[in-house]
Amino acid sequence: MLKKCVYCRQDLQDKRAVDICDKCGIGVWGQKMFKTILQGMNNADEKGDLCLEHEIIDNQDKRV
Ligand SMILES: [Zn+2]
Repeated sequence: MLKKCVYCRQDLQDKRAVDICDKCGIGVWGQKMFKTILQGMNNADEKGDLCLEHEIIDNQDKRV
């Protein structure tokens, strides 16, 4: 089943962990950040472990 971009409802041709097309992803996060997010998601998928979640929890734990 084809996924659709959550922002513009465009069909996503490739299998990716985030339901956001390149155009919207870059619009939201910027090209560099979006690439990093995609890479992180793909790596996490391969390992069967969502590393990104751990990173977010780590960041929240830092008391400013
Ligand atoms: Zn889109």
